[in-house]
Amino acid sequence: MFHKDSEDEARFRTEVRDWVEANLPHSLRHRVLRPNMDELRPWHRLLYRRGWVAPHWPKEYGGMGASVREQVILAEELAKAGAPQLSPLGLTFLASALMAFGTEAQKEAYLPGILSGDTVWVQGYSEPNSGSDLASLITRAVPDGDDFVVNGQKIWTTRAVWADRIFALVRTDPDAKPKQAGISFLLIDAKSPGVTIRGIQSIAGDDELATVFFDDVRVPQANLVGPLNGGWKVANHVLGFERITSADPYRCFALLERVKNVARSAGALNDAAFRDRLVKVEIDVLCHAAIFNHAIESIAAGKVLGPESSIIMLVGTETLQALSDLLLEAAGEEAASTQPFETSEGPVEVATTFLFNRHATIYGGTNEIQRNVIATRVLGLPR
Ligand SMILES: Cc1cc2nc3c(=O)[nH]c(=O)nc-3n(C[C@H](O)[C@H](O)[C@H](O)COP(=O)(O)OP(=O)(O)OC[C@H]3O[C@@H](n4cnc5c(N)ncnc54)[C@H](O)[C@@H]3O)c2cc1C
Repeated sequence: MFHKDSEDEARFRTEVRDWVEANLPHSLRHRVLRPNMDELRPWHRLLYRRGWVAPHWPKEYGGMGASVREQVILAEELAKAGAPQLSPLGLTFLASALMAFGTEAQKEAYLPGILSGDTVWVQGYSEPNSGSDLASLITRAVPDGDDFVVNGQKIWTTRAVWADRIFALVRTDPDAKPKQAGISFLLIDAKSPGVTIRGIQSIAGDDELATVFFDDVRVPQANLVGPLNGGWKVANHVLGFERITSADPYRCFALLERVKNVARSAGALNDAAFRDRLVKVEIDVLCHAAIFNHAIESIAAGKVLGPESSIIMLVGTETLQALSDLLLEAAGEEAASTQPFETSEGPVEVATTFLFNRHATIYGGTNEIQRNVIATRVLGLPR
């Protein structure tokens, strides 16, 4: 898309395609809900042994040091084969924070476990009364000897039910003004005494979300990433990556194919009004892919994206939901069934896809917040 492979790139694409075809278990392909860690870990390890688990990491940290084109080829081929996404929480979010702000000891201690898939990291930012207004968070970390003592609660923590460790935002100065200036970024062992993790089932039926309670949890001060009270900068660095990875165009392309398959089998493609809506959304998918590609090329050229990543998240997630709406429409009355819709290209889980994609405009910051960011920080409009 928007680029013709060079000879070397075409060779790499064939190598990836053949390897994925031979190694990706059929049971993991084209799943709507994410497989649990027991199912996902062997696939993570296979990619790790092949050297393809962290194409975006520099070689000095054990990554592939791949060019942007190689990264795109890998992502495209994995998506086309219906491979499950490896969790970006450790591989992209925390790893990028550690590489930018971590001490050498922290990089040595944590990067290898992220790469091999031995350590499951989760993100403890949101709290029951602090989501959009994240800086109002109140989970407290109080210095005590060489440790902090942490008390509070996090919520909507994705994959926390499988967590080994949590990268969390904690309040270390309750009097700071602005309130962002009193927040620190802390690495917490999820198996520590005083940590309680309670699962939450989502509307789509998956149970990977959780609420996490901290009761007098001792965390070494050496686990602070970045300076004391300097966590807001680290958090925003992570959020920039989160917004881009939340909205890659591959999911949209895959869903577009499923919409067409269902519409063909159900007869909706014979309806001119439906075709008209489908074409409009297909154009949005292409526009989104173009914006995403541009962002990736900019990053490769050394640009830090910043608030522009909100535009990508906005367009990508709203296009994904527009496709989910079309999927329901294409399936007609069968959309309400809990059974997959049978098409000539295989079964499609219509209702689960629709429900699962409701998340997309909430996590990583809701789309109302992305619009606020674009208005004030990209367009420079008054607050
Ligand atoms: C599937 C899923 C996974 C998640 N995973 C994680 C995770 O791993 N770690 C983590 O820390 N968090 C996670 N979250 C939490 C997510 O970041 C928050 O839900 C999100 O930031 C919104 O916060 P809230 O739920 O408290 O809603 P609120 O902030 O209470 O917002 C409620 C509504 O008000 C609107 N609103 C609020 N403020 C404004 C404003 N200033 N202007 C306009 N509209 C506004 C919002 O857009 C929203 O529609 C996850 C959420 C979901 C759905």
